[in-house]
This record gives sequence, C-alpha cells and structure tokens, in this order.
Amino acid sequence: MHEASIAESIVRSVLRAAAEAKAEKVESVTLEFGEWSAFEPAQVEFWLKVGFENTPAAAAALEIRTVPGRIRCRACGAEGACPQNGSGVTGPFVGPVLECPSCGGSDVEIISGREAVVKSIRVVK
Ligand SMILES: [Zn+2]
Repeated sequence: MHEASIAESIVRSVLRAAAEAKAEKVESVTLEFGEWSAFEPAQVEFWLKVGFENTPAAAAALEIRTVPGRIRCRACGAEGACPQNGSGVTGPFVGPVLECPSCGGSDVEIISGREAVVKSIRVVK
C-alpha cells in the first residue's frame, strides 16, 4: 500500500500547484523516482489515475523517470552512483556490502535514490 499513499500525496501537491497557478487543467506531470525508492512505478501510476479522476488533472499525461541513486563515503568524501556489487544488481538493499569506489571503505551513506518527487507539471490556463 506504499504506492497508494505516495500517490495520494503526489495528487495533493499536483492539484495544489494547479490551483495556485489558476490552471484550467493539468496537461502533464513528470515524476522522478530514485532507483531504491521501493515503489512500483506501474502501481503508483494506477493510483495516480484513480486520484486524478474528476479533477483538472484527469487527462494529464504521466511521465515517470527513474533516477540513479548516489552514495557518499563518510571516510573519504567520495560521491557517486552505487557500484556494481558483484551480484549483478546495484543498490544497497540487495547483495553483500556497499563499498566505496575510491577507498574501498564500507562506511557509506545513501544521499539520494530513495525519493519519489514531482519534478514538474505542465498546466493549461
Ligand atoms: Zn571512500
């Protein structure tokens, strides 16, 4: 049910932005999901369509992009996308241990990749 609740908050912020812009209708909505956001884009899309029914965004085109996650090493400060971890899958929640690509340390933090944000909306006035 993660998807239903994230969709609900996206619907709310899109409709608020449309109201603030005094828009007649919303033409398109672009969303960005981090690769580790744990949301199923198709599910979110489904709930967005439900949430947008009978609103100015009912006919909005939805574009969902996946953006790569980034990590930062606490030891040396290196930042970057998550390296392959040998399992063939990138990401901290699968496979063995996250490792800094620069110094090989394992004291790393995730700085992006878990978010699900509204990147832009286009409206018709
Ligand atoms: Zn490092």
